[in-house]
Amino acid sequence: MFDNLLRELRKLEQGVSVPVSIPLDGHGYMDRQCPADECQGQFKILFEDWRDKVRDEVVYCALCRHEAPATEWNTGSQREFLASTAQAFVQQTVQQAMRQDANRFNSQVKPDFVTLRLDVRPGAPVTIVPLAAADAMRQEWTCEACGCRYAAIGAAFFCPACGHNSAVTSFEYLLTHVRSFIAGSPAARAALQNAYDADVANDSMRMMLENTLSRLVGSFQHYAEALFVQLPNSSTVKRRKNVFQNLSWVYA
Ligand SMILES: [Zn+2]
Ligand SMILES: [Zn+2]
Repeated sequence: MFDNLLRELRKLEQGVSVPVSIPLDGHGYMDRQCPADECQGQFKILFEDWRDKVRDEVVYCALCRHEAPATEWNTGSQREFLASTAQAFVQQTVQQAMRQDANRFNSQVKPDFVTLRLDVRPGAPVTIVPLAAADAMRQEWTCEACGCRYAAIGAAFFCPACGHNSAVTSFEYLLTHVRSFIAGSPAARAALQNAYDADVANDSMRMMLENTLSRLVGSFQHYAEALFVQLPNSSTVKRRKNVFQNLSWVYA
């Protein structure tokens, strides 16, 4: 009686591929998010380079260089979109198979004193979560080693395709950015004070400056690593992660 339904369920069990399109931003870049719990940073990569330059086996986070297979880099909203698209596909497939089974059963029933009839009443359709690409990020980078193009808000240090450390270039960028932030901070403080009050203005400015300081420390760490690997015998030295931020190890 349920031949179609059983056939479709068996197909689903073996795995089916459902074509979906992920929207790109106005510059042709695709949103990506680092799967590392301690990072979860968002960046973008030109779709063309994601398709042609990035390997399936490994992608590098542009912000922390975490490595993971290409399937692991969806953003939260992309994951919701993909899950709801898959649920809608399963629902549609199952309902269609049940309807076909019911129609076949009903057409085979001979009218009699008691007549059996199968009706399929579909439940509420699964809503596909709408997905839009985040706005274009302000800074676009091109890897000096492989030419892959990626984008981030502020400095990004690593090429998602080859992991090349571009910290020398991005450290310069961050310094310029921080200098202009500090130069503009009196105006920003005054604007916050006008909109809220002096306390909010002071707290917000202190928080932004502290955040800038920690970005400078992290950035200097990447910068030092990028310069270190340029030394001829650097590969013979075993280094711990974040040596600059762990001075106790240097003096141990
Ligand atoms: Zn990361
Ligand atoms: Zn690269």
